[in-house]
Amino acid sequence: MVEKIHRHIIMLGPPGAGKGTQAAILSEKLGINTVSTGAVLREFSNSGTKEGNKVKALIDKGQMVSDKMMIKIMKEILSKPENVKGYILDGSPRSIPQAKGLDKMLASRKMKKLGQELDAVLYLQVPDDYVIERIIGRFQCAHCKTLYHERFKPTKVFGICDECGHKEFTRREDDTFETVVSRLRAFREVTAPLIPYYEKKGLLRCIDGTGPIDVVSEKIRKIVGY
Ligand SMILES: [Zn+2]
Repeated sequence: MVEKIHRHIIMLGPPGAGKGTQAAILSEKLGINTVSTGAVLREFSNSGTKEGNKVKALIDKGQMVSDKMMIKIMKEILSKPENVKGYILDGSPRSIPQAKGLDKMLASRKMKKLGQELDAVLYLQVPDDYVIERIIGRFQCAHCKTLYHERFKPTKVFGICDECGHKEFTRREDDTFETVVSRLRAFREVTAPLIPYYEKKGLLRCIDGTGPIDVVSEKIRKIVGY
């Protein structure tokens, strides 16, 4: 039995586990925003503020934004009126230091007052070979941007987009075997320690992330309680 609907959520899982897809579904069902690290950094770096410009300079140089800076940005984002109803974090925290920083920030008086404390960490579990197949099979219509997958969602007619009929497709440059393996390794080394971290706090919910999108989102629905 779920006592209340979870509205303060972290999506956790290896690259290619379907976090973004499931976050988008949840976001629509709950009427709350997905806060993705990439989008947050882009928005902040274009804000024209002094700190925004600092972040922009870092990104332009291809450097990482420090954990401290990241938490500061998150605090600003999670204090916005449109995010007071709740949030789904996709892509952060990425490491134990970031998780600790987030905890500290969410425990601040301001955040407590806003009711922004974490409800659940949804961990999408998928085996490595599944992730590899999922990522390297992705492609996209060059014209209308519809997403496809060689095995899981091929075009109805080979080589022709279902939606717009165009015949040109693109693949993301980093969707190669080597990149996926190195991203999986980075996940295991840097991010996976968050699993026992949140388990100890009683916030971790494990979900089998294999299988069709609607099957996975139904499992999530039961946990979140909407
Ligand atoms: Zn198309």
